[in-house]
Parts: sequence; C-alpha cells; structure tokens
Amino acid sequence: MQNQSILIAGPCAAESREQILTAARELAAVGVSLFRAGVWKPRTSPASFQGAGDEALSWLAEAKRLTGLPVATEVATPEHVDKALEAGVDVLWIGARTAANPIAVQEIADAIRKTCVSRKSGVEVLVKNPVNEDASLWLGNIERLEKAGAKVAAIHRGCNHKPCWAMAFELRRQRPDVTLILDPSHLSGDAEKIPMLCQQAMDLNYDGLMVEVHPHPEEALSDAKQQITPHRLQEIVSQLVLRKNSQIDAELLALRKQIDETDDAIWSLIAHRMEVVEKIGDYKRAHGLPVLQSNRFSELMERRVQWATQNGLDADIVRYILNALHEESCRHQL
Ligand code: PEP
Ligand code: MN
Repeated sequence: MQNQSILIAGPCAAESREQILTAARELAAVGVSLFRAGVWKPRTSPASFQGAGDEALSWLAEAKRLTGLPVATEVATPEHVDKALEAGVDVLWIGARTAANPIAVQEIADAIRKTCVSRKSGVEVLVKNPVNEDASLWLGNIERLEKAGAKVAAIHRGCNHKPCWAMAFELRRQRPDVTLILDPSHLSGDAEKIPMLCQQAMDLNYDGLMVEVHPHPEEALSDAKQQITPHRLQEIVSQLVLRKNSQIDAELLALRKQIDETDDAIWSLIAHRMEVVEKIGDYKRAHGLPVLQSNRFSELMERRVQWATQNGLDADIVRYILNALHEESCRHQL
C-alpha cells in the first residue's frame, strides 16, 4: 500500500481479553495504523452475540498500552460516546445501522460536541454509509459530525453485500476533501473477496482500508465468514499493486476527447428520443391510450438485452439503463 494509506484492522467484535490482546499484537506486527473492535454490536437478531459490552473497553485500553496502537470502536448512543472516550478509545465509528437514523446520529454528534469543547480538541469519527444506498444521508451525517467539531473520515461498506460504487463516487464528487476508506469485509460478507476488493480500492484511489481480522476467524462470534487472519492480511497488503498519480499525457487526453465526443452523441440521441416520446404521448392522449404499454416495453427490453449481450455488454447494466430511460419516457407522457 502507499505509505500514506490508512490500514484499520481488528475483529468484528471484542470477544475476550485474550482475543483482543492476541489480535492487537499480531496486527501491530503487520503495521496497521489503527486497531478496531466492536464493543456494543448492533446485531439483526437479539439471539446473536451482542458484544461483550462495557467490560471490553478495558481490553482495548490494555491493547493500546501494550502495542502503542490507537484503538477504535463503534458508538450507537451518547452513552457509548462518553464511555468509550473515557476509557481512552482514540477513534469512534458510526455503524451503518445507526447511520440510517439522523436523530441518533445527531444525538451522538451532540455528545461529541461536549467532549470537543471540554478537551479543546476534535474527536476522530469514522462514518459508515447507511445500510440503504443513500449518498445524501451519508453526506448529511458527515456534516452533522463536522459541525460538532469532529474530525471525520468516511467508510464505504456497501449495502446488502453490494458495492453501490456510485454512492461512494458521489461522496467523492461532493466532498473530495473527506478521507475515504473501503471496508471490504462488510461490503462483501466473504473473506474470499477481500483481496480483490482491497485491490479495487487502491485502483479507485481510496485513502485506506478497514478490514475485519480475527486470530481464529472460524471461531468468531460474529461475522465469521468475512474475517481473515492477521497473516492473511499481511499477504493481501503485500500483494497490492499500486498506481501512481502520474502526469496526464497526450494519449490519455486524446482518449478522453473520444469519450466526450461519444457522450455528446449519446446525449443528443437521448434528447431526440424524448422528442419522439412527447409525440407518442400526444398520440396516446388523443386516442385515449394508456401511457404504460407493458407488452411493448417487455418486447423492447428482451430485444435490447439479447442484442447487448451478443455485443459484449452486461445484461444487468442494459436493464438498468433501459428501465431508467423508460421511466423517464413515461414521466414525459403523464
Ligand atoms: C462493524 O464494522 O463491526 C459493523 C457492525 O459494521 P457495519 O455498521 O458496516 O455493519
Ligand atoms: Mn462485523
């Protein structure tokens, strides 16, 4: 990884003193920048392991003392904020479930504001994207915490094990100044996919990674399928291929010109398509025909997907674009 890249790693949950100290010691040897472990776990089912709770804060403090690594944990309430900071936790993170609720995030931000005022320094907070694909809510949460005086970074953890790259690109577009970290563990839910996703994060110029690492993943009390060993993390990181921010030369500029010209043609055709759609809308109105003609749309979709796959395009992306075009066409006719 780039020297300046951030590498956050540690178990999904703090399970025991021994597990935390072993993980922290092994990860310090790997050279991670921050040790993570969930103390209070927001689990879907009440029957699942809910985290070791307050007791685990002292294990994190001990891990920090032993290894010198700063430590991070998830906070979901103002009480968590106070307890974690009091125990010496260096960095807090807001999980995806909490991130879906702006009232909860504001309460956390208010608790952080109090600490920032009394310490006269900022608290570092990592803000995960919400469980649903919503770039605006993610950006709003970041703003709430910044207004409270926190130093914020964003964590992209996908939605329902789908990457939703567009959501992260939108965050980058609107807030290029915010550090962006990929969490391949929650994004995929699958330890096998972590090397590929870490490489994609580097290729997409992310600022770092947050990876779930457990000394014995198969024994983990939560997220066992997505955790890897410290040794595996070391291997993955050492095999990452890095790209450099080199000069943009004439060859790339010429290719970009071709893209711009192709886009000009595509958008002119879309504008033309909408003109035709308007005319069809007038016809349907004049003849009392319904706007939605589902047989025609099914036929169109089938034909286009078939053509597209024969021409090397992905069927899902073709469906996605055609659905959006069709929805907009219907809107023009209503
Ligand atoms: C976590 O990082 O342990 C966690 C619970 O993640 P998320 O909120 O992304 O599901
Ligand atoms: Mn987890």
